Amino acid sequence: MAAAAHYALGIDVGGTKIFAGVVDTLTGEVIATARKRTHPERGVDFFAQRLLDVGQEALDAAKQQGVDAIAGVGTGIAGQVDRAQGVLLAAPNLAKGMQNFALADLLRNRFNVPVAVGNDVEVATYGEHKFGAGRDYDDFVCVFVGTGIGAAIVQGGLVRRGTTGTAGEIGHTIVQYGGRICGCGGRGHLEAYASRSAVTRVLLAELSRGRSSKLTELLKEGDGAIRSKMLARCIDDGDSLVTETVIEAADYLWAGLASLATIYNPQCIVLGGGLIEAAPLMLERATLRAHEAALPAATRSLKITKSVLGDNSGIVGAAWMAAHAAHP
Ligand SMILES: [Zn+2]
Repeated sequence: MAAAAHYALGIDVGGTKIFAGVVDTLTGEVIATARKRTHPERGVDFFAQRLLDVGQEALDAAKQQGVDAIAGVGTGIAGQVDRAQGVLLAAPNLAKGMQNFALADLLRNRFNVPVAVGNDVEVATYGEHKFGAGRDYDDFVCVFVGTGIGAAIVQGGLVRRGTTGTAGEIGHTIVQYGGRICGCGGRGHLEAYASRSAVTRVLLAELSRGRSSKLTELLKEGDGAIRSKMLARCIDDGDSLVTETVIEAADYLWAGLASLATIYNPQCIVLGGGLIEAAPLMLERATLRAHEAALPAATRSLKITKSVLGDNSGIVGAAWMAAHAAHP
């Protein structure tokens, strides 16, 4: 059996799924994984049980691969966290009534190892920085485009959190003054134009106006929700409605990224998240627009690249964090 010392359990908790994996924290290799959907409507107790179940399932699967013990558990979670206390301050998207939830205690009591808790975007950025697309950089930005848009700024090799922990909230920067209302209540924010939720809203509105699209047929096969994979199939098929909508989102994305590049002047921007993985068009378009929108000197040596770890960036980063910053 392999020694426990350099294996850790990483858990990535997003708006729609809980994804866990046992990871070799020296190499970033993923040994085994498990995943389940979240059901926010079922409340806090259901969420807690599901989190433990997914973690256990990953551990059981790793055991089959010869890894039977871990040194710690790390979790990256879509919500506001108190890292020192291991408490989830607020995450209404994960479970109704989720507030001041003692996440680290729950995991520590169950798995009997040190636990580290972080924000999902920050943790996925650790993954890319240590083992992925950010490996060669100390000043770069990771931007994840999915249900929402989140980013983390790495400066001098460290994630910059800002005075109150909101640094990198690029999803809530303004790309259209007085524009669409964002989920946060503000107007004209990037997330209201370039996230998967924004793309979905535009598509549903266009379909209800009678635009024809392959999407109509795909929606009948599923549960009625528009998923990133459906968008990918439509684009591959040359569907004009979906292609136009994704190009529009990509142009707004780059407007936001260009401002970021101009202000922060990073070595590299790493793009990840469900919409980027599903639609290569997003990355192509953003790269094309880079030099048009930003200050030339800011983008002269700027690299824009896709996440290397893809879906695994959160679990790999969470496991790495457990090995380096867990509280016993
Ligand atoms: Zn906003």
